[in-house]
Amino acid sequence: MLQTSVKPHSQPDPGYSDEALGHYCGLAGIRSRHEADVSRDLFYMLFAQQHRGQEACGIAWDAAGRVMVDKRLGMVSGSAERWLGSPVRSKAGIGHVRYATHGGGGIANAQPLAVSCIKGELALGHNGNLSNGGAIRSALFQQGAIFQTTSDSELFLHRISRSPKQGLEETLRDALSGVEGAYSLAMLWDGALIAARDPMGFRPLHLARRDDTWYVASETCALRALGILSWREIEPGECVVIDDTGPRSFFLPPAQKKARCIFELIYFARPDSYIFGRSVYGSRKALGAAIADLDELKPDVVIPVPDSGTLAAMGYSERSGVPFAMGLTRNHYAGRSFILPNKGERELAVRMKLHAVEEVVNGKCVVIVDDSLVRGTTSGIIVRLLKEAGAKEVHLRLSSPELKWPCYYGIDIPTREELISNSLDEKGIAEHIGADSVRFLPVAATRACLNAPNGEYCCACFDGNHPCQLKDC
Ligand code: SF4
Repeated sequence: MLQTSVKPHSQPDPGYSDEALGHYCGLAGIRSRHEADVSRDLFYMLFAQQHRGQEACGIAWDAAGRVMVDKRLGMVSGSAERWLGSPVRSKAGIGHVRYATHGGGGIANAQPLAVSCIKGELALGHNGNLSNGGAIRSALFQQGAIFQTTSDSELFLHRISRSPKQGLEETLRDALSGVEGAYSLAMLWDGALIAARDPMGFRPLHLARRDDTWYVASETCALRALGILSWREIEPGECVVIDDTGPRSFFLPPAQKKARCIFELIYFARPDSYIFGRSVYGSRKALGAAIADLDELKPDVVIPVPDSGTLAAMGYSERSGVPFAMGLTRNHYAGRSFILPNKGERELAVRMKLHAVEEVVNGKCVVIVDDSLVRGTTSGIIVRLLKEAGAKEVHLRLSSPELKWPCYYGIDIPTREELISNSLDEKGIAEHIGADSVRFLPVAATRACLNAPNGEYCCACFDGNHPCQLKDC
C-alpha cells in the first residue's frame, strides 16, 4: 500500500512586494545502484530550490518496489527536517517543491503524487502547466476517471494507467503524446527514476552523475548544494530512464520549435544556477548592460531594487561607468506581508521592509533598476521613498520588456487588466508612479543579449506569441 504522511504548516513569507510572480515548482530525483540516504539528499536539493515554490514540499521513494510518500505544507526548512533526522534509505527517490495557484493549494495538490494502478505503483512530480490540460481532464472525466486533485499533474498518471501500450518506454510515449504545454517530470516507476522534458523545453531539467548515483534537478544550484559540479541539460523531448544498468534515453517526436522560458533567466532561477546552458548571473548582468546601452541618461548613481534588480544594476553600472550603490536596504526580519485592506497599510508594509539610504541618494540623479514591472504599486512607493530621502531625480529601468500577456505554461501572472503595461506606456507609467522616466528593455534587445533566437525561446508574456494555445475543453 502507498503510505502518505502529511503535516500542515503556516504559509510562507511571500516577500515585500505585490510585484512578485509565482512559479509552479522545482524537481529533484536520485537513482543509485546501492541504497543511500535519499531523503537527506532530496532535502538539500529541495532546500536549494525553495525559491521555485514555498507552499508545499514532498518526497517519494522506492521501498522494494512499493512507493512511499511524505508530503508537507510549508517550506522544506521548518516542515521536513525529519528527512534529515531519520533519513530514508533507498535506491530511488524524487522530490518536489510547489507554488500553489493553478489547481489551488492544500495537501491534496502537493506533490509527488502517488498511485497504485494497472501499470504498477507510480510517483510523479511535475513542473509546468499544460495548455490542453482542461481538454484532457474533461475527456478523462467523460470516460469515468475519478480525480483526487485539481492539478494538471494528475493527468499524466491517468494517461499512463489507461494506456493500452505495454512496457515503460512505449507506455510513456503513448501517455505523453497529445499532451501540450510545459512539463518537466520526475517519476518513480518499477524502481526506476524517469526524468522527462516536453518537446518545446519550456522548463529546465538537468542530469548529473556522482560515482554510482545519478541526480535530476530543475536547477543546477540543487546539484551544487550536494557538491556536484558537472551536469548536462536534459534535452527538450528527452526521456531518461535510470535503473541499475544506468541511464538510457529515448526521444518524443520533436516539436516544430522550442520554447524555453526566457523568464527563467530574467527572474525565476537562482543566480548561481545555469539554465538552458547559460549562467543566470551572467545573463542578468548582460540584461542590465543592455539597458545602459540604450540609455541616454547620465545619472549620478545606479541602485537596485533588492534583491531582484541587483545583478542588472551591476551590469548597468559596469557598462556605463555610473557608480553602483545600495540606495535601498531590505529588512530581512520584517516577516510576512498580510493581504492589507487599504493603500495606506500596504504602503506601510513596504516601508517596513525597504528603506532608502539618504547618504546614497540625497541630491542625486538616481537610476533604479528592477528585473520586471507587474502592477506598478510597489514601484510607486519605492519612488516616494527615494524622493523623501532627497533624490533629485528617480529614473526606473527594467531589465525586461513590458509584461502584457498571460502565461499558460506554469507561471502565475496577474490578469491583463492588472498588468500596468497594458494600460499605460512608459511615459504614463512614469507619471503614475511619480518617476522622472521609465524604460523597458525591448523584446528584440532582450533576445539578442540572451542569445535567444525566435523559435528557441518563449517570450509570450512579453510579445503575445504563445507557442501553443490554451485549450480548455
Ligand atoms: S509566457 Fe513568459 S513566463 Fe510563460 S513560459 Fe513564456 S516566457 Fe516563460
